[in-house]
Amino acid sequence: MKARRLGAVAAAATLALTLAACGSSDSGGNAGSSGGKGLKIGIKFDQPGLGLKKGTEFTGMDVDVAKYVAKSLGTAEGDITWVQAPSAQRETLISTGQVDMVVATYSITDARKEKVSFAGPYFIAGQDLLVRADDSSITGPDTLKGKKLCSVTGSTSAQKVKEKVPDVNLQEFGTYSECVAALASGAIDALTTDDTILAGYAAQDQYKGKLKVVGQPFSTENYGIGIKKGDTAMCQKITDAIKTMISDGSWQKAVDANLGPAGYKPGAGNPPTPASCS
Ligand code: GLU
Repeated sequence: MKARRLGAVAAAATLALTLAACGSSDSGGNAGSSGGKGLKIGIKFDQPGLGLKKGTEFTGMDVDVAKYVAKSLGTAEGDITWVQAPSAQRETLISTGQVDMVVATYSITDARKEKVSFAGPYFIAGQDLLVRADDSSITGPDTLKGKKLCSVTGSTSAQKVKEKVPDVNLQEFGTYSECVAALASGAIDALTTDDTILAGYAAQDQYKGKLKVVGQPFSTENYGIGIKKGDTAMCQKITDAIKTMISDGSWQKAVDANLGPAGYKPGAGNPPTPASCS
């Protein structure tokens, strides 16, 4: 009786292991470098025009770049698993293998390069400020004294504004959409991050006419595709895909479709030339 039960347990365990093995080869957990089918891609879920989840649909510039890159790696749209990648979690998501790549308004920086590698840039943005439409007192970082500012933990935006305005009254949230809600309600006076992201919020129906982008960018944000540190082969493939996306007109199309509706025009340096992989 006891032996039989043990046998059944062993058989069940074997079956589970077999199923797990099949499952992992099917879903291609690390299909990224091996050229398999599935890809897990980290994007933002709450940034209109860049990475936005609406029901089961994903839209935005980052989503289009990710789809283009995935396709050139042999992964069809339907085989992409979209994973939410908040600013502070991007390096961890990559280094732990929870995603194969991150395409999420992700600036290439030396500090981040200690933990992950980047392909790109595929876009250049600049840090700016979003304020209420009737506020004429905030015109740039020098006018933030005594104002309540919001940004996101783990972003270059929070870091840069602290360097630029050392005594700034900064509140750090987990996502930019939380900052926008606080700005609209009057809980904070300004939100700082990339102008691309700010333009997307200002153009949303619920905020139209209520919020405005100051329009004095004070940084250069080179958006890269984050991948596992040292995966040069993957970096090379992604870089080639970005170059083709730019040269075949798909990049411009994606810019027009995703950033055009917010009236956003890419600034100097766009489209960028991706750096070489090392
Ligand atoms: N591009 C900046 C960054 O990577 C700000 C936007 C964001 O947090 O996604 O930190």
